[in-house]
Amino acid sequence: MRFFNTLTREIEEFIPLDPTGKRVGLYTCGPTVYNFAHIGNFRAYVFEDILQRHLEFRGFQVRRVMNLTDVEDKTIRGCRQAGISLDDFTRPFKQAFFQDLSVLRIKSADVYPEATDPEHIAHMIEMISILIGKGHAYRAEDGSVYFRLSTFPSYGRLAHFRLDDLKPSGRVKSDEYEKENIGDFALWKAWNESDGPIFWESPWGKGRPGWHIECSAMATGILGPRIDIHCGGEDNIFPHHEAEIAQTECVTGQPFVKLWMHCRHLLVNGSKMSKSADNFFTLRDLFGKGWTGREIRYVLASIRYREPLNFTFDSLFAARNSLERLDEWSRRIHISAANATQSEPHPELDTEALGKALDEDLNTAGALGVFFDVLRDSNRLLDQNKLSVAQSAFLRDWLRQINSIFCFEPDQQEIPQEVKKLLEQRAQARSQKQWSLSDALRDQILALGWIVKDTKEGQQLSK
Ligand code: AMP
Ligand code: ZN
Repeated sequence: MRFFNTLTREIEEFIPLDPTGKRVGLYTCGPTVYNFAHIGNFRAYVFEDILQRHLEFRGFQVRRVMNLTDVEDKTIRGCRQAGISLDDFTRPFKQAFFQDLSVLRIKSADVYPEATDPEHIAHMIEMISILIGKGHAYRAEDGSVYFRLSTFPSYGRLAHFRLDDLKPSGRVKSDEYEKENIGDFALWKAWNESDGPIFWESPWGKGRPGWHIECSAMATGILGPRIDIHCGGEDNIFPHHEAEIAQTECVTGQPFVKLWMHCRHLLVNGSKMSKSADNFFTLRDLFGKGWTGREIRYVLASIRYREPLNFTFDSLFAARNSLERLDEWSRRIHISAANATQSEPHPELDTEALGKALDEDLNTAGALGVFFDVLRDSNRLLDQNKLSVAQSAFLRDWLRQINSIFCFEPDQQEIPQEVKKLLEQRAQARSQKQWSLSDALRDQILALGWIVKDTKEGQQLSK
């Protein structure tokens, strides 16, 4: 497998740090829980999910950590404005986030650490103390602690800029700041009145951690000092991940992350979908318009993570169409594979190409292209009676593999009792060749919102 590494700007062969070549540590920056996540955020999470699932499909054992950022400027502002505790303010957004993950069929991470967890806060304080001890950080007059950028010359390597570019211009004099250098970033923010009751005690007085040190502490605390893959959206590259590298490597003395992967932004009418630009959709907005998690997942997965993805309602309609074709094909293949005792590939269908597209820097668009080629060609072979039962069984198993990565299977639909009863009556009517009764029952079922089709396998119901 080969992936593009933001750090080296090259496509590299993936070799895990684990000497046995099996285990993979994956850290994915999670949501800031001050609002409902928007579907731009979910582009990042769906990309990370497909990455994990494809690694697992290829036999790696992935341990994934996704943090919840529950203390930083926006959550503090939010709870202060609402006049409630930080915990009460963030809780509903955490719950909504987990619901959204499940609707989008995103596999649960192994651990969801929260920045406010006392164990992680203690680890953040410990890391900051080490940084001060080594001369990489200093306490400013107000009790805040800053990272001393001048001690880490490779700062800027991930975002590909030079440290000099951060030097203050003539207009902004650095002595107007409490920081020694304008680029120095906060590891610990001293308490001020607007923070109200939100603070932790530290050797530098009361305050709270900076956002960047939160991720460094949670990532290394759970996955260890070195991590195979660290992901996020492209806005995370600078300053967040750049700062994470600086802090972590200065504490541990080792390279922090082997492979950095970032997805391009989800755009709306050409600009970034974001809460601050007020051009965002939450999943709830889309459910309200009748779209399903499965359709939204399809749109988010349909473009390779490294390409910009412009969100439109046309793309949702196209997803709905593609999924209908997929369902129809799946039904045909399952019927034709019924009673199969073995499975065997058809020489004209290049099913291997799908996995290869994903191996090549997670080319999801290429993989779906392969899928629909195979679908079209196998439909033709079925029409011509040129697909054997064993070959159909092979395609049925292939679809199962694809679904273990893309998760495009139909929603489990609860069939109402009334519809079940009508179905039974209709099966009986048909067995007694009462065709007009059968048609009348079909219409009654239709009036309840369900379509019944007659196949070799018996009645097939769909919503
Ligand atoms: P946040 O809640 O802002 O900390 O973001 C959570 C994750 O979503 C991060 O990995 C961001 O990089 C990512 N993200 C935010 N906006 C977008 C967007 N429009 N497209 C893709 N990813 C995004
Ligand atoms: Zn992070």
